[in-house]
Amino acid sequence: MCGIVGYVGNRDACPILLKGLHRLEYRGYDSAGVAMVNGDGALNVYKCKGKVDDLEHFLDGKDLCGSIGIAHTRWATHGVPNDANAHPHYSESENIALIHNGIIENFRVLKDALIENGYTFRSSTDSEVLVNLIEYIRTTENCTLLEAVQQALKQVVGAYAIAVIEKGNHDEIIAARQSSPMVVGIGKGEYFLSSDATSIIEYTENFVYVNDGEVAVINRNAPLKVFTLDNEEERIHIQKLKLSISQLEKGGFPHFMLKEIYEQPHTLVDCIRGRINPETGEVKLSGVIDNREKFVNAKRIIFVACGTSWHASLIGEHLIENICRIPVEVEYASEFRYRNPIIRPDDIVIAVSQSGETADTLAAVELARKAGAFVYGICNVVGSSIARATDSGSYIHVGPEIGVASTKAFTGQVTVMAMLALAIGHEKGTVNKEYYQEISQALLKLPETLEDVLKIDAQVEDLAKIFTYAHNFIYLGRGYNYPTALEGALKLKEISYIHAEGYPAAEMKHGPIALIDAEMPVVSIATPDHTYEKSASNIEEVKSRGGKIIAVVAREDEQVRKRADYVIEVPVITDCLMPIVVSIPLQLLAYYIAVNKGRNVDQPRNLAKSVTVE
Ligand code: GLU
Repeated sequence: MCGIVGYVGNRDACPILLKGLHRLEYRGYDSAGVAMVNGDGALNVYKCKGKVDDLEHFLDGKDLCGSIGIAHTRWATHGVPNDANAHPHYSESENIALIHNGIIENFRVLKDALIENGYTFRSSTDSEVLVNLIEYIRTTENCTLLEAVQQALKQVVGAYAIAVIEKGNHDEIIAARQSSPMVVGIGKGEYFLSSDATSIIEYTENFVYVNDGEVAVINRNAPLKVFTLDNEEERIHIQKLKLSISQLEKGGFPHFMLKEIYEQPHTLVDCIRGRINPETGEVKLSGVIDNREKFVNAKRIIFVACGTSWHASLIGEHLIENICRIPVEVEYASEFRYRNPIIRPDDIVIAVSQSGETADTLAAVELARKAGAFVYGICNVVGSSIARATDSGSYIHVGPEIGVASTKAFTGQVTVMAMLALAIGHEKGTVNKEYYQEISQALLKLPETLEDVLKIDAQVEDLAKIFTYAHNFIYLGRGYNYPTALEGALKLKEISYIHAEGYPAAEMKHGPIALIDAEMPVVSIATPDHTYEKSASNIEEVKSRGGKIIAVVAREDEQVRKRADYVIEVPVITDCLMPIVVSIPLQLLAYYIAVNKGRNVDQPRNLAKSVTVE
């Protein structure tokens, strides 16, 4: 969600800042801006509503000198997206500029106090309050900028990643974080700041993750220093991160989403690599090996997640209950954290988040840890907040996901959950050899299977033409494929803005069937498993009411295809992994419908990639 970038060193800051903002565009935003201190010490702020391209046009002819600067993409929380509300924000005297990601919850009280002290405001944001508070402290207490930031932040309730620069100081950026991501990249005689290491990966492999409650002093002439709000100096841990730039580019595809759909055969190779022995089919997850007793003795597993990760968790529930015979609950992190949930020390809480920065999931992790549960993370972004806050975990290793609508992260999450279930099931002795081998062999063949599924691309593209102007969609599935139906509907909503709902197929009769008429496309997943006959009957029910059936079936299917108006054929593998197979054509269907409607597929309206506010 939104992003910050900073630079101080010996190069021109502006091109680096703009490139960084472009790399953060995937996170979703509505305005952008930069601030730089030039060689004479002048502090210039330029910002506008719209995309980073709009900002670039706006910068034409402006003074862009300076080898220190900060930049921001805003995802509005307080005040509409417009030029005035865009960041950076000047302080009243225009001596200080600040960028902020997050929410200052007590901004109203702070603002009223500043107004009483004669401050006026140019924007409706909570962020402008903070820059003025910093200035107020700096001038009234005659302290350094670092001290003013520390003192101001002590008064703030909320979530933030901030960066501040000051007129007359072209050496130093002060940055701080609480619950919003922030990382400092260390170069030779230069520093980079970002909400996401991938946006600055082309400059350095050395990163320092700023922790909650820490303030970083990033000075071109000195080693990086990190302090608490009480000014105690903290130890710095430099972490190495390697990534190829091609992973951040579209590589000939028209959209990141399509590229990421097509990457799935390869991303699953990376996800499985080193975890399943190709000779013996044996699954080894270090997170389970290292915590064997915890998993074997767990009385319950609770998944906490949001959005697509929540759908993947529903599949995880089936997998673990089926294979490990441990009771599982799946919770929306946002509900869980505010519900006074019962968490016991013999519970395992599994937090699932692509970015590892999802604010609600992170808060749920903290709650679970306080309650004494063992907390396991399933994340994509290495070194992310959730990955660091959990006791152990498994990365999904699918590479950076840039398209806002999740595709390869979903299939990676389900793949990790299947391996997790096998690893725990094996330790507990709840899975027989044959079934274990059936699943692990199918996992090993997944990349090949997905290559095969992707051959359906042109056919789905044609199908999408027929349904581009539908106003509503229903997705139905049962068993393992009920969550797949939810995820299919979510994809369509997210990027095409068509209203779509997913239901367990048998639930239709309890209400939604009233919606069925000739205008209602119904995507019915009916691949072979023990619910197949039931799904076939549910399709009859829809058909009898004039609904248009798009059936996702096995290639060799005979029964359901007869009743379907359109058929999407997929190869069949073991039932618990079918959600991975079926989700591919559903991703493609959403993608092509969105493209036909002229939507901004990679950055759909109102959405952000990593939801760092609650
Ligand atoms: N709350 C701030 C605003 O609305 C920051 C939003 C963001 O994280 O981009 O301007």
